[in-house]
Amino acid sequence: TGGIVLRSLHKRYGRATAVDSVSLSISPGEFISLLGPSGSGKTTTLMMIAGFETPDSGQILLDDKDITRLPPHRRELGVIFQNYALFPHMTVAENIAYPLRMRRMPKAEIETRVHRVLDQVHLSALASRYPHQMSGGQQQRVAIARAMVFEPPVLLLDEPLGALDRKLRQHLRNEIKTLHKEVGKTMIYVTHDQDEALAMSDRIAVMHEGRIRQVSAPQDIYRRP
Ligand code: ADP
Ligand code: ADP
Repeated sequence: TGGIVLRSLHKRYGRATAVDSVSLSISPGEFISLLGPSGSGKTTTLMMIAGFETPDSGQILLDDKDITRLPPHRRELGVIFQNYALFPHMTVAENIAYPLRMRRMPKAEIETRVHRVLDQVHLSALASRYPHQMSGGQQQRVAIARAMVFEPPVLLLDEPLGALDRKLRQHLRNEIKTLHKEVGKTMIYVTHDQDEALAMSDRIAVMHEGRIRQVSAPQDIYRRP
């Protein structure tokens, strides 16, 4: 599971076209980047997949099911933003448990899931820390854990390393790549950083002015088909 199909998505804000005829098939377990300059439509595309924006036309399928008009919380997707917005008064474990508590999942099940996901992002030792007691990189890993705790087949990442400094970005880049190999989830990764996209992706969709201009494996990105 975790296959996504975008069929001719269009989105306008007023008279400006943000996303123009975007079509893309993403295989289960694939790591795909949406790469392009600021304003090229990457975030709008991702937000339509997440359900925070509705396309004017076109379709979004998740495992052959039409989710185009499903509200965000009914889609099986984890979303990670640049500003990870952890709750400052909650520990790491409480932050991660929070969305499950909101859905009234039984306590024992919550514990099991929180432990499992902490282990996956190598944060078990920091479970009782508060956000201000951790580095930016560690906080971002908590945000990733919180998105994964539902065990969604797909993770959507919007410039997740954008707020971090250069050294930490390199480090987290490798961690996310390793995590992708370990958990086998589909990952859709928005970035304007070409090096990042080249280093992490199975395929890169290059966006410009709302359109996908090219979809290639990293090694073929400079070759025109
Ligand atoms: P990117 O993520 O590549 O930077 P966006 O998807 O954020 O691009 O934006 C694409 C275009 O849509 C830009 O011209 C942007 O100004 C416009 N846009 C995005 N969101 C909104 C919005 N909520 N209201 C008006 N215009 C928007
Ligand atoms: P860990 O080493 O436990 O995975 P981090 O992911 O937070 O922890 O840190 C990764 C690397 O970045 C380490 O080498 C650490 O020294 C460094 N680092 C941590 N926090 C910062 C920061 N705020 N600014 C710059 N470098 C940092």
